[in-house]
Amino acid sequence: MPELIVENIHLKYGTAEVLGGASFSVEKGKIAALLGPSGSGKTTLLRTIAGLERACEGRIRVSGQEVLNCSAGLDLPAEKRGLGFVFQSYALWPNRTVFDNVAYGLRLRKVAETEIRRKVGAVCEVLGLGHLQQRFPAQLSGGQQQRVAIARSLAYDPAVLLLDEPLSNLDAKLRDEARAFLKELITREERAAVIVTHDQIEALAIADTIILLNGGVIAQEGSPEDLYNRPKTLFTADFIGNNVRISGKVVTAGDGFATLDCDGLRVTG
Ligand code: ADP
Repeated sequence: MPELIVENIHLKYGTAEVLGGASFSVEKGKIAALLGPSGSGKTTLLRTIAGLERACEGRIRVSGQEVLNCSAGLDLPAEKRGLGFVFQSYALWPNRTVFDNVAYGLRLRKVAETEIRRKVGAVCEVLGLGHLQQRFPAQLSGGQQQRVAIARSLAYDPAVLLLDEPLSNLDAKLRDEARAFLKELITREERAAVIVTHDQIEALAIADTIILLNGGVIAQEGSPEDLYNRPKTLFTADFIGNNVRISGKVVTAGDGFATLDCDGLRVTG
C-alpha cells in the first residue's frame, strides 16, 4: 500500500474553490512533485495534507492509518499525522542553537530529554550537522540551514516528508547538491516525500512522479518522461513548452493518421 494516499480533496476559501478533488498517492522511497503555475493550489494542497487547512473535504491515509476522513468526522491535528514539514523559509528559531531547533518538535511532543539527545544526535549525524549542533542559524550557510530544517522534520521519524519549495533560497550550486542529497536520503531511508515547486527543472531532477496542478485540479500525473513526452492536455503541453500546434484542413484520414493541408503544405501525422 502507498505510504501516502490522498483522495478527492476539495477546499474552498469563501465561495472560491481552491482545490477541486485532488487525488494521488506516493510509495515508500519515492518523491512526488506538486508542480504548477502560481496560484494553482500547490501550497494549499500540501498544507491540507499536513493538517494545517481544516475546512476541507476528502480522505488522507499515512502509513495505512486514516488521518482525514471528512464524511466520518475524522481530522487528526498536524502533530498526530506522522508527517514532517519543511517550509520554504526553513522557519528556524534564530535565537536557538541547531540542537534546540532540531529538538523543538520532540520537546513539544514531551519526549524524554535523554531520548531527545539520542534522536537529535543521530539525525544531525545523518545530515552532516554533528559538529554544528551548538551553532546558531545565523552562523550557518544557506545549505546548512536547509539541512537543519530537514533534520528538524526528520527528528520524530515521520514516514512522509512534505517540503514547500525547500531549495528556493539556495544558490544554483548548493541547490544541485541539496537536491541530490534529499533524493538520496528519501530513497535510502524509504520515506515518501511530496515537494512543492514551480520550477520544472527542479521537478524533473528530483521527482519520481510529477503532479501538475491547474486551478486546483490535477491536469496530469505521471513520470517526468510521461509528462514531457506524452502531454495529455493542452494545458500540460503549454506548461512544459511542448506546444507546437498545426492547423489546417484534413484531406485524407485513416489507420490513425491524417494528412492536413496547411496553406498548401501537406503534413501527415
Ligand atoms: P500555489 O502554491 O500554487 O501558488 P496557493 O495554494 O498558494 O497556490 O493558492 C491557491 C489559491 O488559493 C490562490 O488563488 C490563492 O490566491 C488562494 N489562497 C491561498 N491562501 C488563501 C487564503 N488564506 N485566503 C484566501 N485565498 C487564499
